[in-house]
Amino acid sequence: EPVSTLVEAGSSYQEGAAALSRIAQVERLATEPVDRRTGALPGQKAAMPGPASVRFEDVSFHYRAGLPNVHTGVSFEVPGTGMTAFVGPSGAGKSTVFALIERFYEATGGRVLVDGKDVRDWSLPQLRSVIGYVEQDAPVLAGTLRENLVFAAPGATDDDIHDVLARTKLDTLVDRLPHGLDTPVGHRGSKLSGGERQRIAIARALLRKPRLLLLDEATSQLDAVNELALRDVVTEVARETTVLVVAHRLSTVTGADRIVVMDAGRVRSVGTHEELVVQDRLYAQLAATQLLAPTR
Ligand code: ADP
Ligand code: MG
Repeated sequence: EPVSTLVEAGSSYQEGAAALSRIAQVERLATEPVDRRTGALPGQKAAMPGPASVRFEDVSFHYRAGLPNVHTGVSFEVPGTGMTAFVGPSGAGKSTVFALIERFYEATGGRVLVDGKDVRDWSLPQLRSVIGYVEQDAPVLAGTLRENLVFAAPGATDDDIHDVLARTKLDTLVDRLPHGLDTPVGHRGSKLSGGERQRIAIARALLRKPRLLLLDEATSQLDAVNELALRDVVTEVARETTVLVVAHRLSTVTGADRIVVMDAGRVRSVGTHEELVVQDRLYAQLAATQLLAPTR
């Protein structure tokens, strides 16, 4: 039994370490002392406070030479406000939009602009300090709730933490936990529901006060209460932060200010839910069949 405990501990350590390095990669702490909210370097004036804008100009992209294009002539514009949802069949290139905004990869043609500036002209720490990225099925790590939240925002105070917990409707969870913020939330968050895990990941991103939130919605099913909570949280955040969400839920897209429908690496159409159900057959189909929530 001690041996199997050890083996289990080893494998859970490895999983934890992998998850940790993924988050560290994504939420890499700025190596330059950049102002988190504005992206300004010391001595620079905060040039661009407030929500960030995003523009794709005729973007083409393939992951490796020889592989087919994942994006072909992708163009859209997101003003510095509100919520924009990306929908489309699996493999359409939605998550890749986020990868190009974060500059995990660079466009092979065309331009990606954040606040009107080509992402290649931003320093990476500056760019990433502006963006909060919640990856699909973002992990909750072994450790306490507090540790999970302050992971990428070590300067966060208890007031900051309570503020984001209220905004993500997790304050009742904290009240329920036996040791509040200092309750271990279990290996990979197994003591939490899927909806709570997702909102913890959002809270973690919000603690860094991003001007642009990229949310790759979890594909796992949420119960009705968690689904409503998620919708309200995203709607509220979108009042003061540009929110881009890869949506798998009808409840998310119906609340979006604009929806970008993607298929096979192209933008098919852009509009509101009401416009698209009559104008775009693929969208109407996705909405009707709930294909927005894929089964995997
Ligand atoms: P979606 O989010 O719409 O499901 P993605 O943007 O994740 O689509 O993927 C678009 C296409 O790019 C898919 O065919 C996928 O297999 C491919 N792809 C995604 N990530 C990578 C990667 N890191 N390397 C190679 N191909 C990838
Ligand atoms: Mg995806």
